[in-house]
Amino acid sequence: MNKQYPAMGTLSVWGGEENKDFWQRSTQLPVVHSVSFGYQDVDEWLEVALAKRPGHIYSRNTNPTVAAFEEKVRRLEGAEAAVSFGSGMAAISNTLFTLLSPGERVVSVKDTYGGTNQIFLEFLPRFQIDVRLCDTTDHEAIEAEVAKGCRVLYLETPTNPTLKVIDLARLSQAGHAVGAMVVVDNTFATPINTNPLALGADLVLHSATKFLGGHADALGGVACGPAELVHQIYHFREINGAVLDPMAAYLLLRGMKTLHLRIRQQNENALRIARFLEAHPLVEQVLYPGLESHQNHHIAVRQMRGFGGVLSFAPKGGFEAVRALLPHLRYAHAAANLGAVETVVGPPATTSHVEVSREQRAMMGIPEALIRYSAGIEDSDDLIADLEQALGRVQL
Ligand SMILES: *Cc1c(COP(=O)(O)O)cnc(C)c1O
Repeated sequence: MNKQYPAMGTLSVWGGEENKDFWQRSTQLPVVHSVSFGYQDVDEWLEVALAKRPGHIYSRNTNPTVAAFEEKVRRLEGAEAAVSFGSGMAAISNTLFTLLSPGERVVSVKDTYGGTNQIFLEFLPRFQIDVRLCDTTDHEAIEAEVAKGCRVLYLETPTNPTLKVIDLARLSQAGHAVGAMVVVDNTFATPINTNPLALGADLVLHSATKFLGGHADALGGVACGPAELVHQIYHFREINGAVLDPMAAYLLLRGMKTLHLRIRQQNENALRIARFLEAHPLVEQVLYPGLESHQNHHIAVRQMRGFGGVLSFAPKGGFEAVRALLPHLRYAHAAANLGAVETVVGPPATTSHVEVSREQRAMMGIPEALIRYSAGIEDSDDLIADLEQALGRVQL
């Protein structure tokens, strides 16, 4: 891959903030806490309202702080346009409800994020949308389902929490052969590690709540892609109202200024920790795309610039061992989020897949004793020593 300029570090800092003409010459983007924007000149007002000249009217449509956030993500994903939302789930649901109509078909995989899986199983069928969920790593089976025709091919990689990796270039081709829209949730990889649009996808989605913001202090979501398509999603959002708050947009923007540094450190920490755990006698299984033992390592090597900050592992001794281990971790929040500067741990049964029944988790191949480990930016020596002492507390 040829490196493009401005590169990721520069875009993380300056993307969406290159215009130095901020309010009162402030060097930092103001948080514009205003519902509406006033006009003395009615003709000017009309032109802005009709999008014939730039400007803002009402913050359910557009807002300057929110627009800067959209612009930063747009640049990092190399997209024509981006539209933001109040959460990752809002980005996902608004995108799906924009693209799909009754009688149409979606093909996706069994391992999507718990909330997304719930949209597929509970909500879309109520609108007579036919949903087909394939085995996540069975590329032939996905291609066969897609070949029968579908409006949307919805993918997520690496998956949560088993870190399966899907070949985006291959499946984008399969989707386009039948005229499908290929939508990718890129939350786990981040634009630093993978750019799905460059691999052929039509739309890329993020829960900005996770790695983009990186500080676990603001919820947000975003969809990026071709201007016309993003405009349709924007139109759905402006009417249905799942907007991003300007304060949250500011927190996410501020977090994103260090995105490239954080992801570099998290890639490094996660790989070291995965190797440490894989060699540990009290660990049954480790799932991380950077490990040679991972079933999709060969795809990850081709598709990812780094393997991401999240890994999963199962200690020997089942859920009892999980119960014994977690409280002894000193440098990890036991919580439901991921992608933060602090290390965060949690069993999928209480975090990402709490919406999903035990039977469904089993069907998805998620062991009950699995622990999702989202490596923070701490020193990896400390994180490894911490895991070592906590594993020592487990009585087999
Ligand atoms: C967290 C997450 C979501 C949902 O995002 P929210 O901001 O919590 O609504 C969607 N996809 C993935 C992969 C996630 O990790």
